[in-house]
Amino acid sequence: MIFKIFIFLVIVLSSELKSEIVVDPGEMIAIKTSSCPDIKNKQVFFYTFNKIDYAIVPSPFTKNSKLINTYCVPIKVNKKNYGESRITILDVSKVNLSEEDGQRAYKESQLIKNSLNKYSTDIKSSLKFINPVDGIISSRYGKQRYINDQPRSPHLALDIAAPEGTRIIAPAAGKVILIGDFFYSGNYLILDHGFGLISSYSHMSKVHVQMNDYLSQGDVIGKVGSTGRVTGPHLHWSVYLGGERINPESLIAENFFEKLFQ
Ligand SMILES: [Zn+2]
Repeated sequence: MIFKIFIFLVIVLSSELKSEIVVDPGEMIAIKTSSCPDIKNKQVFFYTFNKIDYAIVPSPFTKNSKLINTYCVPIKVNKKNYGESRITILDVSKVNLSEEDGQRAYKESQLIKNSLNKYSTDIKSSLKFINPVDGIISSRYGKQRYINDQPRSPHLALDIAAPEGTRIIAPAAGKVILIGDFFYSGNYLILDHGFGLISSYSHMSKVHVQMNDYLSQGDVIGKVGSTGRVTGPHLHWSVYLGGERINPESLIAENFFEKLFQ
C-alpha cells in the first residue's frame, strides 16, 4: 500500500515538475504569466488565448541546441540543421563592397537596428499573420548562406518569389516605422506590430504606404520587385520578436495556435 502511494506521489510530482519547454530555434514560445509572475515586468509580447494570459518570447536561432534560462521556465532549444542555400550574385560590386558602399551599408544597418529595437505599447496586432504575398517560397528560414561560394550569415527570413508588381499586403495590423531605399534591401519598410513584434519587407518595386501610417491586416503596402541585392524578383520577409529574427513561415502555418499553445 505504502509503495503504491509512493509511486502515485512520484507520478504526480514528476508531472508537476515537467515544465521544461522544448522548441526549435527561431520559433515563438508561450509562457503562462501565472507560472512566471516576474515576466509581467519584462518587455515581452503579451497575449491572451482561451482566457489564459501568456508571454510570447523568441527561441533565438543562435541558441540552437542550447538551454535558455532567462525565464522561470527552462527552455530547451532543439538541435536543428536547416540546410544551406547557395546563390550567385553576378554584380560583384554588391558582394565585395567599395569603401563608399560599405559606409552606406553600415549607416543603413544602424538605422534599421534602431527601428528594430522599438518596444511600443500603443499598437497590438494579432499573433496569427496572413501570407504577405501570393508566390512560391524560394528560400526558407535558417539556411546557411553562400554567396558566390563565400560563407555568409544564415538566411533568417523567408523569401517568396513572385512576378514583379505582385501586391504585398500587411500580414497583421501595424504601424510603418521605417521606409528607405537601401543598399542590400532595396525599397524597404518596417512594420511595428507592437510589444516587440516587428516585420520587414525588402526588394520592393514600389512602396504604397508612408511613414507613421497605421495599417490593418490585408492593407496593400507595396509591390514585389528586384531592388537592392537580389537574384530575381521576390519578397525577403523578416519577422522579429524581442529583437530576434524568428521563422516567418511558422506565423502563417495552418496549425499556428495549436502548436504555440499546446
Ligand atoms: Zn531572403
